[in-house]
Amino acid sequence: MTPTNTLPASFAPQWVDAMLTTVLGTTGNDGAAETLGDFDRRSGDGDFGTNLTSAFGRVRDEVAETNPQDYLSWLTAVSRGFLGTGGTSGPLFGMFFRDLARCADGDTPTLTELGAGLDTALATVQRYGKAEVGHKTMVDAIAPAAQALAAQAAAGADPVAALDAAADAAQAGALSTRDIVARRGRASYVGEVSRGVLDPGAVAVALMIRCAAGAARGSDAAADVSWLH
Ligand code: ADP
Ligand code: MG
Repeated sequence: MTPTNTLPASFAPQWVDAMLTTVLGTTGNDGAAETLGDFDRRSGDGDFGTNLTSAFGRVRDEVAETNPQDYLSWLTAVSRGFLGTGGTSGPLFGMFFRDLARCADGDTPTLTELGAGLDTALATVQRYGKAEVGHKTMVDAIAPAAQALAAQAAAGADPVAALDAAADAAQAGALSTRDIVARRGRASYVGEVSRGVLDPGAVAVALMIRCAAGAARGSDAAADVSWLH
């Protein structure tokens, strides 16, 4: 393990803070949950925004109650927030973050560990949800991100460049869901109506990974959401 391959100690708290601000917004500023809820209203059953809002509300409570001090505890708080939430996405994101929580051997993950964690998380989501790439789900963003991160880690890239590449890949994957019809989840019930609308779960993944890329460079700023419109 080389020092540059390890994420900074501030990675997990800044990642979680950035996701909270991105999704929930700040006083006077709507978070992305609003827009993502609108996507689900147009192509699903409309509950994604409230599911995501209550999941991150629970994350905030978990953090306040458990006062996490290391990577495992921070990511466990996120996982527990989602596992207590409804919809299809709640349990899937809960398991996704549980696998990411468990990826590190020490206090913070190396890039290689994080890449392996994302691979495991993808496999878990696919085992439970039975979605392939192209089914217009969160898998359309997770799979390219996992691939990009593994390739970057194998090439010896530094964590910032690697997570930037993973976030770009996730965003491209999320954007690719616009012109396809959903084959999994409630959006699959509306058939052609889902064409033309971004999959909210895939967009959420892309935003989460963009927040991770920011945290790798020491920032807890909210992710850019201008590409959603
Ligand atoms: P529901 O479909 O039960 O209303 P949510 O609204 O909470 O669930 O979440 C919708 C999101 O969940 C979708 O945008 C999609 O990304 C994701 N999703 C739905 N079904 C699956 C599945 N079988 N596998 C992976 N992701 C899925
Ligand atoms: Mg829904």
